[in-house]
Amino acid sequence: MERYKLFIDGDWCDPVSNEWFETTEPFSGRAWAEIPRGMQADADRAVDAAHRAFLSPDWAGLTATQRGALLRRLAELIEANVDRLGAIEQRDNGKLMAEVSGQVRNVAQWFHYYAGLADKVQGAVVPINKADVFNYVKYEPLGVVVAITPWNSPLALTTWKMAPALAAGNTIVIKPSEYTSASILELAKLAHQAGFPRGVVNVVTGFGAEVGEPLVRHPLTAKIAFTGGDIGGQRVNEAAAPGLKKVTLELGGKSPNIVFDDADLDQAVKGAISGVFGASGQTCMAGSRLLVQKTIHDAFVEKLVAATAEARIGDPSKMDTQIGPIATRPQWEKILRMIDMAKQEGAVCALGGHALSGPDYGQGQFVAPTIFTQVRNDMRIAQEEVFGPVLCVIPFEDEDDALRIANDVEFGLAAGVWTRDLHRAMYCVDRLRAGTVWVNNYRSTSFTTPFGGYKRSGLGREGGVEAIKEYLQIKSVWITT
Ligand code: NAD
Repeated sequence: MERYKLFIDGDWCDPVSNEWFETTEPFSGRAWAEIPRGMQADADRAVDAAHRAFLSPDWAGLTATQRGALLRRLAELIEANVDRLGAIEQRDNGKLMAEVSGQVRNVAQWFHYYAGLADKVQGAVVPINKADVFNYVKYEPLGVVVAITPWNSPLALTTWKMAPALAAGNTIVIKPSEYTSASILELAKLAHQAGFPRGVVNVVTGFGAEVGEPLVRHPLTAKIAFTGGDIGGQRVNEAAAPGLKKVTLELGGKSPNIVFDDADLDQAVKGAISGVFGASGQTCMAGSRLLVQKTIHDAFVEKLVAATAEARIGDPSKMDTQIGPIATRPQWEKILRMIDMAKQEGAVCALGGHALSGPDYGQGQFVAPTIFTQVRNDMRIAQEEVFGPVLCVIPFEDEDDALRIANDVEFGLAAGVWTRDLHRAMYCVDRLRAGTVWVNNYRSTSFTTPFGGYKRSGLGREGGVEAIKEYLQIKSVWITT
């Protein structure tokens, strides 16, 4: 079994605890690697190293173009290692083999994009009401960035932080999820190979309370970029508050996908299915509340249930599998508890509603794609994030009724609207309280555009030009001439 080490200050080292924990394949249930159990002392070493690197001429002395070249080199190394990285991520998380190499290629694209942005961060000369005074505004890096990431898309969600943070001239300590650390340690190997100076990229593995929180609280940590659940995000925000540290939080969602009666219903069925059942529902942007106009409700649900029932579920390493396992045991148990809760609340189970086991399902960490109808928006199943393959169907009367239901939730990550009426679409776009709105599609993302949440779905944005500003200070300079 592979035994990994921590990556601190350019060296591979054992954790101070001298303890490792196992990481397992969700499909087979087999442990396949040992991950170091980092503690406060490891967090301290990593932040101290990142801080030294931030001040060192080896990093601080590089031009922005030179930083961009290092990021580009890393992107190329990722491209050269797509299969290896993809296989590790697939093994750790249970992602579909059919999708994983595309996801790793996309990670490389993110590094290329921010490599290009590194030397395009421009300040401004500001007109001042005095003849002999010159004022300009410049951007500077923050210092040590701590990136804390979840298990659902480890490489992508780490890259969303790492690429803009490094392009802006910061150094970074990454704390991946305890369930999926291996691909991030492999990414650190590539960063090392790309030639980033020692201490610029560090990876400390372990548990949130043991090593994540000490990283957040460390006095030399300047910024925390966190992706995870809303409760975890709240804890991180509280731990960052005494030090008045900057935070970016990418949290959960309970996103509405709204289908009007004038929509292309076949496309809307496809969008509803991929919207919620993609990655077995383990995506923050899952369209987990399907709002269907009453005039088409019954016919639409019939089509939806029939199409979902045909999904090929099973071994994620097979290229034709469409729905794979749940990545972690606790998550699998939580989904099943929430399904029971929905039944008790009076939601009607139109499809699924149970675990799957048998020869096709490995160790049984599977949940059947589940569709609940007759859901009221005030039920817990309609308000709380499941993070699994569970869809709530809620009927509505008209635009305003749909918008009222769509916005009546604590989250605000994303929303979908399906209609052929452009006026209706724009009316909804302007009134949906969500960081991303998709019209006649669902789940589109790109490194060129910002992603993030309203309300309890988070603070700040990742992706696009905006994201690099999340990793920069603004300095206003006054010169008397
Ligand atoms: P989680 O909040 O349990 O853990 C996320 C990370 O935080 C892990 O690395 C964990 O070890 C760490 N952590 C936990 N407690 C901590 C603490 N007190 N201090 C510091 N670090 C701590 O989330 P998860 O279960 O790994 O991931 C699922 C969640 O992530 C879902 O809610 C999902 O919606 C969200 N998510 C959001 C986005 C987005 O972009 N908005 C993307 C993917 C996932």
